[in-house]
Amino acid sequence: MKLQLLPSTFDENGRASKKQHLSCFVIDDKVAIDAGSLAISATPKQKEQLRDVILTHAHIDHIAGLPLFIDDLFASIVKPVEIYATQEVIDILEKNIFNWDVYPKFSELENDNGVVSSYIPFEIGKTFKVEHLEVKAIGVNHKVPSVGFIVNDQNSKFAITGDTAEMSKFWEVVNNEKDLNALMIECAFPDRLKELADVSHHLTPKKLSDELKKFQNKDCPIYVINIKPMYYEEIIKDLSSMKLANLEVLEVGKIYNF
Ligand SMILES: [Zn+2]
Repeated sequence: MKLQLLPSTFDENGRASKKQHLSCFVIDDKVAIDAGSLAISATPKQKEQLRDVILTHAHIDHIAGLPLFIDDLFASIVKPVEIYATQEVIDILEKNIFNWDVYPKFSELENDNGVVSSYIPFEIGKTFKVEHLEVKAIGVNHKVPSVGFIVNDQNSKFAITGDTAEMSKFWEVVNNEKDLNALMIECAFPDRLKELADVSHHLTPKKLSDELKKFQNKDCPIYVINIKPMYYEEIIKDLSSMKLANLEVLEVGKIYNF
């Protein structure tokens, strides 16, 4: 399985930087988990093939690229853009984003080929199919309704938390998965901002290291995601001082093969 975190910030020369402002993980150039930078950074191949978007939650850094992605492709869409999310998240999108005020309600619009976008609700604890993937949704602990996933293509399998603070159910489910090839876990704030991390339901390096004590698969590669760009250097410093085993930061733009 091929996985790429799409770029979302720029360096002083206008090139993609290693920092992550938005969340969008593309699998096999066909399926996206979150759509923060989807319209901005998807490759031409991804724009041509990708019609399935799975959402962890409705915070703007995870959905910002979705309205523009559908808009850019509007006239050329044959297979509609299918948005997989919990009903709570779908309701938030319909009320606050696709409401004719902020952006068109694409679920009610058609082009010459038919509907351009539709919703596919999923339930927490259930497994559902998206293209060639099996996806299991697990509730996590964020400020708003949020889920993490286990994604499986029958050859390999990874777990991803999305945004979260301390979890219990997620670890219970992940610890029951055999042959996990990778774990992606958030770390939004540095240790100095623990209070802010607590109130906004995020992790810090110290909290992350406590969470990893609940992870029983001690050989699985761990990739840190969703690092807030303003604190990137500080978080990297905090993380390296902890010397956590098998852990590295997921590189923006790099193609990983699991
Ligand atoms: Zn969030």
